[in-house]
Amino acid sequence: MPLEIVTLPCLSDNYAYLLHDAASGATAVVDVPDAAPIQAALAERGWTLTDILITHHHWDHIDGLEDLRAATGARVVGAAADAHRLPPLDLAVAEGDTVVIGSEALQVFDVSGHTVGHIAFYAPKTGAVFTADSLMALGCGRLFEGTPEMMWTSLQKLAALPPETLVCSGHEYTASNAKFAATIEPDNAALISRSRQIAEARAENRPTVPSRLDEELATNPFLRAHLPELKTALGLPDASDAMVFAEIRAQKDRF
Ligand code: ZN
Ligand code: FE
Repeated sequence: MPLEIVTLPCLSDNYAYLLHDAASGATAVVDVPDAAPIQAALAERGWTLTDILITHHHWDHIDGLEDLRAATGARVVGAAADAHRLPPLDLAVAEGDTVVIGSEALQVFDVSGHTVGHIAFYAPKTGAVFTADSLMALGCGRLFEGTPEMMWTSLQKLAALPPETLVCSGHEYTASNAKFAATIEPDNAALISRSRQIAEARAENRPTVPSRLDEELATNPFLRAHLPELKTALGLPDASDAMVFAEIRAQKDRF
């Protein structure tokens, strides 16, 4: 049985996700921007939180953690590499480890780049990956700590997952990401139609996440730095994939 996923808007533009295993009752949350909306969503469904999964150390992903831990006693799971700058972890994990939530064994990926130590959780039976500020809908996180090479390598790991995988990312930045993506690939038909859907969703205040990996592969410029037509359009026909990624990231930082 796949896990049930609930997308929870938090703060002004963050997302947390609930993962619920109906058979065992196990329930996890990925990131805790704010405890209140998470507790409200749990209460509404009559679910008991068992696990808190943390992707990275930024305050907007952990600010509600201690309140939620105190209220629920849930196990806190985060990156061993970030243990020195995260609240106390009950389980410290690294790439290759698994975290069991009911009948699902989540796989831990190191997706450093936005921060060094950022992790993603991949749920293979459910077909979802929780990427926070690594791979985002039509974008990727800004490189606060890592190098372009590091982020490109991280994105390649996510790009290799099954194409129908749901990408559950950490922020509602998709509309502005779409405007930027159009400057890189103005003639990408899939991007044009996706941008229209994004504008409609936001006009109705609907989340644009999760997205599907195959639509990211077709439209997200940060996953497309290896394509010859994109390299040529950027005037970098002979550059390495990571160099082209770095150029796209630099343009986005100035956008
Ligand atoms: Zn962040
Ligand atoms: Fe963030």
